[in-house]
Parts: sequence; structure tokens; C-alpha cells
Amino acid sequence: MDSQQFREFGRAAIDYIADYMDNIRDRDVLPSVEPGYLKNMIPDAAPEDPESWQDFLKDVERVVMPGMTHWNSPQFHAYYPTGNSFPSIVADIITCGLGGVGFSWIANPACTELEVEMMNWLGKMLNLPEEFLNSSDGPGGGIIQGSASEATFIGLLAAKERMINRMKENDPSLDSNLTKTKLVAYASDQSNSSVEKAGLLASIPMKLLPVDDRCRLRGDTLEAAIKEDIAKGLIPCYVVLNWGTTGTCAFDCTEEIGPVCEKYGIWMHIDAAYAGAAFICPEYRHLMKGIEYADSFDFNPHKWMLVNFDCSAMWVKNANYLVDAFDVQRIYLKDNNTSGKMPDYRHWQISLGRRFRAIKLWAVMRIYGASGLRNHIRKQVGLAEHFESLVRKDSRFEMLTEVSMGLVCFRIKGGNELTKALVAKLTERKVVFLVPCTYQGKMLMRFCVCSRLTESRDVDFSWNEIETQAGLILDSNAVEKLSSDIAEKMDTSDKANKLTIITKLQTTEIQEKSK
Ligand code: PLP
Repeated sequence: MDSQQFREFGRAAIDYIADYMDNIRDRDVLPSVEPGYLKNMIPDAAPEDPESWQDFLKDVERVVMPGMTHWNSPQFHAYYPTGNSFPSIVADIITCGLGGVGFSWIANPACTELEVEMMNWLGKMLNLPEEFLNSSDGPGGGIIQGSASEATFIGLLAAKERMINRMKENDPSLDSNLTKTKLVAYASDQSNSSVEKAGLLASIPMKLLPVDDRCRLRGDTLEAAIKEDIAKGLIPCYVVLNWGTTGTCAFDCTEEIGPVCEKYGIWMHIDAAYAGAAFICPEYRHLMKGIEYADSFDFNPHKWMLVNFDCSAMWVKNANYLVDAFDVQRIYLKDNNTSGKMPDYRHWQISLGRRFRAIKLWAVMRIYGASGLRNHIRKQVGLAEHFESLVRKDSRFEMLTEVSMGLVCFRIKGGNELTKALVAKLTERKVVFLVPCTYQGKMLMRFCVCSRLTESRDVDFSWNEIETQAGLILDSNAVEKLSSDIAEKMDTSDKANKLTIITKLQTTEIQEKSK
């Protein structure tokens, strides 16, 4: 492909994406394919002869589009958002065009240096304590990781090394390998699956502690667990705090937990994967109280800050602990990085290679501006509040947890099976997409305002689908109950016949209603 064809292909691809966004409301949010759908739509092996980009683009529509779950759809309310914006998409194209891998300063000075500056811009936008920012005279700094999962895992590996090194300073004869088997870590039972996975990967038990009635981990629960483990000869080294749990967007009690971590010399990591973006708005900063206790803090601009995946912003108070844990030297990696002026980010992450992700962060922060990003957060919170008001007006539903950020958790009043049936029905119909969570043994549905394209009319549309389907479920549930009540009162010989007749009559009525 020459540069002229590249221009044509690129323009056509941009047009394709723009059309996709403009017309996304015409598509069901969930695809209508079965697992394995794709295999027979493409050949078994790569083509021997070159094919045209036009054919390729046609196949994106033919092969890929039918199997897409549309995260950009305003009817996508599952999980948390995945960031997406035109500035970020174009910036990612530029990143790919420039190529390059920035594992050391000399390998790509702009990659390192723009990342240093962008992590400072972003840190300042969040009003993070100064000590987390990159500066030439402090050990703190920020780095873009691929995901919040990676950040949690990296924090754990650094915490492990820090604890062992500290213990070795006190007792140089310490058997490091044996000591490592005694390390333990903690998080709440509401933490994301990636937190438990970090423990699995690091071979350190991640103890998932119970939360209070607001889904928050409390300081006394943590301290009790720590004391119990110390009494057993174990060594607590890492705590992951949730600032916005995946289930209900709850915030752990930082000001209680921070002093406990400090007292026992435990690394405190804050996982604010989704909710962290809100701290660009001053009105949410009260939730950051206690951040000064943290050793590391991470949030995903690739969730709620309009930056395309992958871009997870991680700051540490002392990057030397990362370097201690991850520094492996080779002669071919030596460069002329002027003695510590710039970080060698390869020592702050798992892989050697790294993408130039700072470009998209730069593009988004400049082209939206801090005010534009704040508007985005506030608009989405406003839409969640609008949805909340719709739920509260309908006496068939209830809410057991507070609305937090852009997330509303609610349920049909009555047993779990009603909410479960509603989630299943909505998923089957594919018009809106929500996922459930549990709260104190009760099933809830999570409605998250995810897509950047969501407007008030989209929330109304989703609500209409939800409440209509709920009505049908409640009607059919009422029929079943009525039928079995009547059947109870009949003598056994009549029961089967009459039950069938009643059910048929009522089902027909429901089907009529749903037309
Ligand atoms: N932490 C929390 C609280 C999350 O909600 C999620 C994902 O939704 C993650 C971590 C994992 O994020 P990532 O996909 O960036 O690893």
C-alpha cells in the first residue's frame, strides 16, 4: 500500500467510524450471534495474494459488525463505560503512525517525556498531592499502565519487595523466599475480580474482607484481620482500597484504613478505576480525603474520561520501590538517560515494550479542555439522576443503595427471581444492556450511563424498555400466583384442566398487551 492508497483507506475508515457513531441508535446494543459465529465467515488461512482495502472494509461490516456489542450505544448500561472520543481515536492513529516503542528514554524520548508531563497535567487536574507528581527532585511520579488490573498487580509486586527489603534491613540473614510465602494482602469482598487475580498471579493470598451496609470496607474490620494474621505468623503487606466498587460504586473508608496501613507499614493502593475521573470536578474531591496515606493510586481515563482503551493512570509516592522490584538490566538496554532526570518507565511496568499512550491523553485534555471534561462528568451524573427519578416514581421498583456517580442500582420489589428474570429478558431482547450485582444477598440491576452519546431521551428510551418488560414479568408472575391459588382451592381431579385453561387465558392477555 502506498501513501496515496493509505490516504484513501484512512479517509474511508474515518468515514466508516463517523457513520457508525452517527447511526448507532439504529442498532441493537447486543448482537444476535451465537458463539462460533465467525469461523465460517472468513477463510481458514490468510490469503496468498494481496486483497484490496475496499474488500477488507466491506468485511468489517459483514464479519465484525454482526458480532459487536455496542459499548458506544446510548443503550449500553452494563459494567462501566469504555472511553471513546474522536480526539482520542485520531491521536491513537497518530501513535500508530509514529510507531516506536518507549521502553527507555533513548528508545523514544518523546514517549517518555510527554507521558511525564501528561501525568502531571492529569494529576494537577485531579488535585493530587504534589508528592505523587513527576518532578526531578522527588521519588514520586505517574505512569500510564495498560489497565487498572495491571496497576493493582504492580502495586502488589512493589509492596512485596518493599516488605522483604525492609525486613532484610532489620535481619540480613532473613530467608527471603521463605518469608515471601508468609505475605498476605487485603481488599473488600466488593473489589473487582482483578484484585483477587493480582493475588493469584503474585502467589500472595488476597483476603476479601466483609463490608458494612454501605458496601464499604471499615478500618476496624481490616485491623482485626491484620491482627489475626500476624498472630498466625503471617506478614500483611498490601491493602487495595476501592474508590468506586464495580458492583455499587461504593467508597471504602479511607480515613479509617489509612492510619491502619500506616501503623502496620502496609502498602495502600487505591483502585479508583471508574470513579477517579470524577475528581476533576471539585465537588467530588471530598471523596479523596485520606489520599495522603496511599502509596499508589490508579484510575482509568479509558473508562470515564473519554480516552480510548488503553490508558490507566497510576501514580506512586515513591517510584524507587517499583524500580527495586522490576529493574532488570541488559547491555542493550543501557542508554544515556541523564542520570535520573527522566524515568525509565520499563522499570515501572510489567512488559518491556510500551505504547506511546500519552498522545491520546494530550489530545483529549487539549481538545476537550478541563472544562469540557468536567462537563462530560457532570452531564453523565445528571443523566443518572434523571434515571433515578424515573425509578423512584415507579412503586414497582426499589433502590437499596445510594446512587453513586453515573451508576444507579435498583430492583423489582419482591424476590430475587423477578430482577433476575428482568435482566434475562432485557438481554434476550437486546434493546438495552444491563448487568446485575448483589447487595446483602439481594439481586440488583446496575444502570450505568456509559456512552458519551447518551442524552436524556436515551435514558427515557431505556427506562421505557425496562419498565415495560418489568410490567410483563410482574403480570405473568401474578398469573402464575393466581393460577396456583385457584388450583389450591379446587379438588385434585379438576385441578390440571382448570389450571391449564386459566393460564392460557391469562397468557393470551399478556401477549396482547405486549404487542
Ligand atoms: N477496578 C474496578 C473498580 C473496576 O470497576 C474495573 C473494571 O470495571 C477494574 C478495576 C478493571 O479495570 P481494567 O479493565 O482497566 O483492568
